[in-house]
Amino acid sequence: MTISVQCDECFQSYKVRDDRAGQTLKCKSCGAKIRVPAADDEIEDLNEDYEPPGATTRKKKKPAPAKKKKKTKKSISISPGKVVKRTFGVLSLVIGGLMVAGAIYMLFAGEAPDGKKARPVYAFLVASGFLGVGKKWLTED
Ligand SMILES: [Zn+2]
Repeated sequence: MTISVQCDECFQSYKVRDDRAGQTLKCKSCGAKIRVPAADDEIEDLNEDYEPPGATTRKKKKPAPAKKKKKTKKSISISPGKVVKRTFGVLSLVIGGLMVAGAIYMLFAGEAPDGKKARPVYAFLVASGFLGVGKKWLTED
């Protein structure tokens, strides 16, 4: 294998053995110094495109397990649709109404399991809560 070199001064071309690569020669025509390019240069450039076998495996990292979680919370809890709101509003009103009716029944005829007088105050509060939520969901757009 030979290396082609050219004198910068007189443009005389030479072919030298590749074992002269990297050396500085003297031009036979004009005496100028000619640096023989290292034959390895080109090969080293090509080698940059290749990766050692160990390097490729390092790049493959395991995917982060945190990415598995997808956001499932969507329409119902954050922004319920009009129909959903209406439905839950009616349901809340119905439940509230039933609880009010039950509380009234307990107030007059009910008996707690321990024999004490039934206290439907909590039932009234919850019922009013249901009624309030149902009214709110029915009225607001
Ligand atoms: Zn020369």
